[in-house]
Amino acid sequence: MDARINARGIPVVTGAAFAPVRWVVRPQPISLDSQTVPKELRDHEVERFVEAADNVTARLLSRAEKSVGSSSDLLRVAAAMATDPAWRSATTKLIQAGTPADSAATQTIADIARKFVAAGDTLAERVTDLIDVRDRVVAEIHGMPEGALPELDKPTILFCDDLAPADAGALDPKYVKALVCRGGGPTSHFVIVSRQLGIPCIISAKGIDNVEDGELALVDGANGHITINPDAGHARSIIALDEARHQAEDNWEGPACTKDGIRIYLYGNVQDRMQALQARKMGADGVGLLRTELTFLGTRNEPNLDAQIRAYKSVIDVFPDKRFIARTLDAGSDKPVVWAGTQPEENPALGVRGLRTILRKKEVLLHQLDALAEVSAGRKEPLRVMAPMVSTLDEAQMFADLVRERGMSPGIMIEVPALAFLADPLYQIVDFTSLGTNDLTQYLMAADRTNPYLASYLDAWQPAILTLIAHVARAAARHGKQACVCGEAAADPVLASVLTGMGVHGLSMAPSAIKTVGSYISQLNLDTCKRAAIAVIGNDPGDMYGPYTGAFSAVDARERALKIFNEALSATQN
Ligand code: PEP
Ligand code: MG
Repeated sequence: MDARINARGIPVVTGAAFAPVRWVVRPQPISLDSQTVPKELRDHEVERFVEAADNVTARLLSRAEKSVGSSSDLLRVAAAMATDPAWRSATTKLIQAGTPADSAATQTIADIARKFVAAGDTLAERVTDLIDVRDRVVAEIHGMPEGALPELDKPTILFCDDLAPADAGALDPKYVKALVCRGGGPTSHFVIVSRQLGIPCIISAKGIDNVEDGELALVDGANGHITINPDAGHARSIIALDEARHQAEDNWEGPACTKDGIRIYLYGNVQDRMQALQARKMGADGVGLLRTELTFLGTRNEPNLDAQIRAYKSVIDVFPDKRFIARTLDAGSDKPVVWAGTQPEENPALGVRGLRTILRKKEVLLHQLDALAEVSAGRKEPLRVMAPMVSTLDEAQMFADLVRERGMSPGIMIEVPALAFLADPLYQIVDFTSLGTNDLTQYLMAADRTNPYLASYLDAWQPAILTLIAHVARAAARHGKQACVCGEAAADPVLASVLTGMGVHGLSMAPSAIKTVGSYISQLNLDTCKRAAIAVIGNDPGDMYGPYTGAFSAVDARERALKIFNEALSATQN
C-alpha cells in the first residue's frame, strides 16, 4: 500500500518510531477582561487570582514529581515563578486598584519580562518560561484547559506547532516515541529535553497539516522523513536499523575509532564540573570546549583572580592527563555578562561579543588568561586556550601572543566566515582551531540562530557550510595542525562521520551525544566516511575554487551521506 503522506522536516534528535499520531492542541487565545472591577468584588477577584496561581503551581509540582532530571527541573522553575511573592503582590495591588485578575497577571508578567531583558543577566528562554506561566494562570482564571499535552496511556507520536517549556518538561519517553513539530528551532527548550530523553525529534516539519489523530506515522529522525500509513515492511526495516543503532550504542565503550582502527577524538562541551564528570563517564578524550562565560553568567561583578582560579580548576582537574580546551569569555549577544562590559545593542549578534569585548574592557581578558595560566602551570600538557568570535588575523596574532606569553597553547574558534577563508595564514599564527558551527552557520547563512522561523537556514548540512569546513580541514592538514568542530554539528552522528571523512581531527559535543557518535563512527571505515564527504561536497573536498559537484541543498547533502552509510551498515549487519 502506498503511504498516504510523505512529509519531511529537519531532524534534530536521531532515532526512529512507528506509532499512532496525537496532535498537541494549543488552547485558544483568551480575550482579557478590560472592565474595572467594582470595589466590593475586588477581594473576591484577588482570591480568584491566588487560587488560580495555586492550582497551576500544584499541577506543575505534581508533574515535576513524576519526571526526572532536567524535565523535573524545568517544571520546578515554572512552579517557582507561579509562587513568586513579588509577582503575586504586584498583581494583588493591581487587582485592588480595580484591574481584573487576568489583565493584572498579564501586566505584571510583562513588567517582569521587560526587567529581565533590560537587566541583561538572564537568558531569553526565561522570558518564554514567564509567558508560559502567565498563559497557564490566565487559562485557569477562565476555567479553560491549561497547557496542551494530552494524557497518554500508549505509545504515541506527538505532532505539534510548538511545545511550551513546561510541557516539554512533562514529556514521558515511555509513551512519547517521537516528536514532530511544525515550528521549533535547533535550540528550543523541547529540543534540548527530547535530546536528553532520547526522544527522536523533527522540527520545521512541512506537509503534515492533513495528518489526523490516530493515523499511523513512521518517523525517521536520521533523515527527517515522516511517512503516514507507510508500507509495513518499510517501517519494520527502519525500526530494525534503529534498534541495531541502539544496541551498538549500549555496547560501545570507546576510545573512538573507525571500524578499520583509525583513532577519532571525541571531546565534551562543558560549562561546569558536573558536566566534565559526565563527559569523563561517557568516555570523552578530554574537553574540547569549556564555555567559561556560563560559569559566571549570574554574577554582577568580575570574580577576582582566586575565585576564577578555583572555578576553572574544579572543572579542568577532572581531566588531569587529557586534552583540555578552555574558551575565553564569549560575552555578549545571547550571553550577556555585565562585568565584561556588554551593553544593550541594536544588533547584538553582530556587535561587541566574544573577543571584541576587549574594545571596552581588555583587562577582563588579561585577568582570565592569568587565572587559566595558574591552572595550566600544574598540568602535564599545557592548557589549550581559544578565543571566540575572532574576525581578523591581527586579532588572532594579538591573542596568540598573550596566551603564549603565559605558557599556554593558543587556538582560535572559527565562527566568523571571514576567518575561515583565511585558514591558511591563520594556521601559521595559532596551534589549533575549533569550528563553532552554530555561529559559523548563523553568520554564513545570515540567519539569527535564536529565530525558530529560520531553522532550515541554520542546518549545518547546508552545502556552503560543509564546503567551508572542508576548506579549513584541508588548510589544517597542509600545516600539520588540527581542525576540530565544537558546534552542534559534531553531535549529529551522520554529520560527524562526514566531518571525519573531510579530515576534521576532533569532535567536541554535549556529553550525552558521545556514545551515539562514537558507536556510529565505529561501524564505518574511514574510506566510507571519505566517500560520503566527496558525495556531499564534491570530488575534491575543500577545493572551494574548483567546479562544484556537491549537494544541491541541506536535505540532498544528508541523503547522499545516509545512502552511503546505510549501505555500509546493512552490509555489516547481513
Ligand atoms: C558555536 O558557535 O558553534 C559554539 C560552539 O559556540 P556557542 O554555541 O557557545 O556560541
Ligand atoms: Mg559560538
